[in-house]
Amino acid sequence: QNLEKTHSLQAADEKFLWHSMKGSAPGQANIVFTKGDGAWITDNDGNRYLDGMSGLWCVNVGYGRQELAEAAFKQLQQLAYVPLTQSHVPAIKLAEKLNEWLGDEYVIFFSNSGSEANEAAFKIARQYHQQTGGHNRYKFISRYRAYHGNTMGALAATGQAQRKFKYEPLGQGFLHVAPPDTYRNPDDASTLASAEEIDRVMTWEISDTIAGVIMEPIITGGGIIMPPEGYMARVKEICESHGALLICDEVICGFGRTGKPFGFMNYGVKPDIITMAKGITSAYLPLAATAVKREIYEAYAGEDTYDRFRHVNTFGGNPAACALALKNLEIYESENLIERSRILGERLLFELQELKNHPNVGDIRGKGLLAGIELVKDKQAKSPLEIEKVNKVIGFCKEKGLIIGKNGDTVAGYNNILTLAPPLSITDNDFDFIVRTVKECLFKL
Ligand code: PMP
Repeated sequence: QNLEKTHSLQAADEKFLWHSMKGSAPGQANIVFTKGDGAWITDNDGNRYLDGMSGLWCVNVGYGRQELAEAAFKQLQQLAYVPLTQSHVPAIKLAEKLNEWLGDEYVIFFSNSGSEANEAAFKIARQYHQQTGGHNRYKFISRYRAYHGNTMGALAATGQAQRKFKYEPLGQGFLHVAPPDTYRNPDDASTLASAEEIDRVMTWEISDTIAGVIMEPIITGGGIIMPPEGYMARVKEICESHGALLICDEVICGFGRTGKPFGFMNYGVKPDIITMAKGITSAYLPLAATAVKREIYEAYAGEDTYDRFRHVNTFGGNPAACALALKNLEIYESENLIERSRILGERLLFELQELKNHPNVGDIRGKGLLAGIELVKDKQAKSPLEIEKVNKVIGFCKEKGLIIGKNGDTVAGYNNILTLAPPLSITDNDFDFIVRTVKECLFKL
């Protein structure tokens, strides 16, 4: 009977729900999930899966946290809404707490999604230059293969080939450079050639047309692309020498995913603007933030405070989401989850090394509880493994009750990186289950 119910849910799903990316294999109905607990999610028929991707890299503290539900419930009862044209206690406290995490003075603009946080960053950067005499500065540089969001500006900054998919014209003034590919290009691994390219592009474009650079410390959705040693520091230096701002997209890398509070902290740089979402609430409610260095904010001082930033966001920083986020940050701290991510991440890379013997495993990389296994046809040519085979491994894992991801760039033919990003609160047993299952399933290929 339950099975029948699932079929009718799936029929309605098929008929009425427009999915952004279909999570199931082609031709297969979507799994309808009904419950979550720790790292596990359960479907309508009672099948349990370990969520090795934390949803979309976001449920960092795991599912079923009553204290998060209660924090939102209490706030909704007390005061459901105040626009941030005014103020309320949870937003004030959260902005203060984020400063503590960021370790420097930032002013926080709240919104609801990673895309919006990036859009706000672009507008803040452009207006900042306008306020400080950089009237020509409107261009942003980002990297191919990086994802920055679905809105017209964030999509324009996105470097994956699907930004070209029928939606042009996108936001104007977005340029792309190649990311470092330390696996395929020996130069990228041993030199800062890929960073120097940013310097060259800025020069050729004329420095005073450049507003900023946006980058994730580690490219996540594009296939766990790691910066070579010194890369981010060199990019920051290049930005400074051309008068451009460095925007770090911490939507995935933030909140412990890479074993530090924020990804940039692994690389000794201080970005001018930092965008965050996902892990800020562990996805229990939508919330995002754009953190802006105080000096930049201060350049906005004008006669009319409304002129500081003409950008209204109705739901951004709503009281319930902020109250929940505060409780969520408390969980990271009290359970030491950032450090746990760092330690388990090292263990994960170590455990996965055994896969180096596999004929189709070209590269294994990552930081914290964020790992990629790049699958290739043959190790010499490093050509991406056929997508059918990549899907097969993912299917084997699913049969065994483990959800893992597949990332890269679909259109450019690099959708061959298996990804792991489990909740940071994962138990030792669950961690062992992931490692064991991934190995088993790969060796079944
Ligand atoms: N930046 C990065 C790095 C992301 O991974 C995402 C979402 N996957 C976004 C921005 C956009 O976030 P959202 O889907 O919340 O708009």
